[in-house]
Amino acid sequence: MKIQDIQVLAVLLATPKKIAILPHRGPDGDAMGSTLALYHFLLKNNHEPTVIAPNDFPDFLAWLPGSETVKIFEKDKENCTKILEEAALIFTLDFNALHRVGEMELVLNQLTAPFVMVDHHQKPDDYALITYSDTAFGSTCEMIYNLILFLDGKKDIDKTIATCIYTGILTDSGSFRFPKTTGNTHRIVAELIDLGVENTVIPTLLFDNNSYSRLQLLGRALQNMQLFPEYKTAYLTLTQAELDHFNFVKGDTEGIVNYGLSIKGIHFSAIFIENQAEKIIKISFRSQGTFDVNEFARNHFDGGGHINAAGGKSELSMEETVAKFENLVPKLKL
Ligand code: 5GP
Ligand code: MN
Repeated sequence: MKIQDIQVLAVLLATPKKIAILPHRGPDGDAMGSTLALYHFLLKNNHEPTVIAPNDFPDFLAWLPGSETVKIFEKDKENCTKILEEAALIFTLDFNALHRVGEMELVLNQLTAPFVMVDHHQKPDDYALITYSDTAFGSTCEMIYNLILFLDGKKDIDKTIATCIYTGILTDSGSFRFPKTTGNTHRIVAELIDLGVENTVIPTLLFDNNSYSRLQLLGRALQNMQLFPEYKTAYLTLTQAELDHFNFVKGDTEGIVNYGLSIKGIHFSAIFIENQAEKIIKISFRSQGTFDVNEFARNHFDGGGHINAAGGKSELSMEETVAKFENLVPKLKL
């Protein structure tokens, strides 16, 4: 983060303010962990922060401290719009373009308060007064830890803030497996554990809360998997009918795409999930090694993300979307 930006931010935070903190739509562990960590830090510093999520967050994050205070824009547009209009400062965390908040973008476009972006995705848009964007980081939570240190706030990091930060680092690093997990990541995590983070309990809260029907849905997705060993590629599908059959609830499809990568020799995995309400096929891409799924998602499926984890969408039918993907696969350099 640039020295001038730290100074500008320190001045903005020198007097108590109403502050809105926004994660992206479909908030994940890093989006919720980072927004709530910042929420608790600002609260400790006499501000009046509110986390406004564009839509609901998954149940496996509902234990995060402060999650009960999070406002959901799509459930309560009037009140959330009022909070946004009254905010003197807006933090946008874990995303790089305002369209990632869905409908809430229309409100954000009308605001005059300055924005601060903290994010680790490629190609950040230019909407913020302060942009702390760096793809070298594995998580926005790790950046929020740094941001708090830049603001001389290390003394404020307590078990609550540490728990939020730990959660985002853990989830966005694939439990410390992904390439951007550095010695520094582990040093930060060590400090968070020393502050009381329950590092042997949190993974259970996050990952061992499957319902029976979720595992059945996973089973169906695995049965649907198609393999292209010569291209080191696998993909999975779930239709709306299959989601309905297994009583799909939000979060149930999280992580299923990774099973493709768990096959020996497979370096590129995709999952296609039909969403009848939004009339799209939502897609997740994952890779191992140098194949850039962010670029692939941007070029072919109206999406983006990171080198090894990205997403996109298609307005074609499931059959057409999968056919398009199958046609692209032989041309990839994997
Ligand atoms: P996931 O597959 O878990 O939904 O997302 C993986 C990564 O890609 C995340 O960093 C997420 O923010 C990003 N991503 C997912 N869907 C989209 C999309 O439609 N557009 C863009 N630009 N990024 C996406
Ligand atoms: Mn993230």
